Amino acid sequence: ATPAATMVGTTLGAQNGVLFKGGDVLERAKDVDTVVFDKTGTLTQGEMELTDVVVFGDDGQPVADGGERTDGGTPSADGGQLTAAERLSEDDVLRLAAIAESGSEHPLARAIVDGAEDRGIDVSDPDGFENVPGHGVKATVNGNEVLVGNRKLLRDNGIDPAPAQGTMERLESEGKTAMLVGYEGELVGVVADADTVKESAKDAVSQLQERGVDVMMITGDNERTARAVAEQVEIDPENVRAEVLPEDKSDAVESIQESGRKAMMVGDGVNDAPALAVAYVGTAIGSGTDVAIEAADVTLMRDDPVDVVKAIRISDATLQKIK
Ligand code: ADP
Ligand code: MG
Repeated sequence: ATPAATMVGTTLGAQNGVLFKGGDVLERAKDVDTVVFDKTGTLTQGEMELTDVVVFGDDGQPVADGGERTDGGTPSADGGQLTAAERLSEDDVLRLAAIAESGSEHPLARAIVDGAEDRGIDVSDPDGFENVPGHGVKATVNGNEVLVGNRKLLRDNGIDPAPAQGTMERLESEGKTAMLVGYEGELVGVVADADTVKESAKDAVSQLQERGVDVMMITGDNERTARAVAEQVEIDPENVRAEVLPEDKSDAVESIQESGRKAMMVGDGVNDAPALAVAYVGTAIGSGTDVAIEAADVTLMRDDPVDVVKAIRISDATLQKIK
């Protein structure tokens, strides 16, 4: 583009809250044929709320609060030793999860801590804490190991997540992120957080599709939750890449581009930065972290996914003017 066209486009962008990092980006944006949205914080508000706490007994069945079994059995009817889960109430499970998560900055963790505090639970600091990126947290509480995270986290730490599968599936198909809670080497509960899809996310998707742009979604979240969200914004389930580890997001974008596609990656988080960098156009959205903004070619000042369409339109309009 000529310097004049670049200036017009850059100015028009700025007036619309779309910041292009230079003339070449402005030029590239119009050729984007695929937009890959990060899920959490990009299509969704990224403000999680705690929605469910389920206690599990030693037989792997959900236990209603107060220790009564939903399956009608009596706890320890065999007169045997009560296991960890049987001694725990809903609030106990939530307290353990919140203590373990209090060292994590993750939105899922924040929601658990806030949810516990809202219920009047005192959330103390854990004795030890380890973040397991893309999987969860591992903490020491009163000398016991507490795990909060996905199936892989529990499996890797010797706990079989299978008994919770039914509960997990039910929560996930509601679009919630369900997390398993392990305590003293046993599965003791499931907690779930829910996020809200941004108001304009569906419009952004349909406007892109109307332009002939293929819309995809990428997330570290599990397949079922990802699909439930994709359905809400009308992204084709085949275009959903779920359970992608933070360090694998950039590989996923590269493999999408391998077939010659020109992909715009749209993300907000630190874990999106490498993917933003390898994309044909990297776009950081709204309240995104500094790392994401730095790695991006375009920054959307507002938290509005429709501005992705604006960015492409401005590029298109500016360059057509000088033809
Ligand atoms: P996203 O790409 O959606 O931001 P992440 O890659 O950060 O997700 O995490 C992937 C999955 O790992 C989450 O959906 C969750 O199951 C689990 N996870 C990650 N961090 C935590 C945490 N602090 N507590 C519990 N589970 C977590
Ligand atoms: Mg995100």
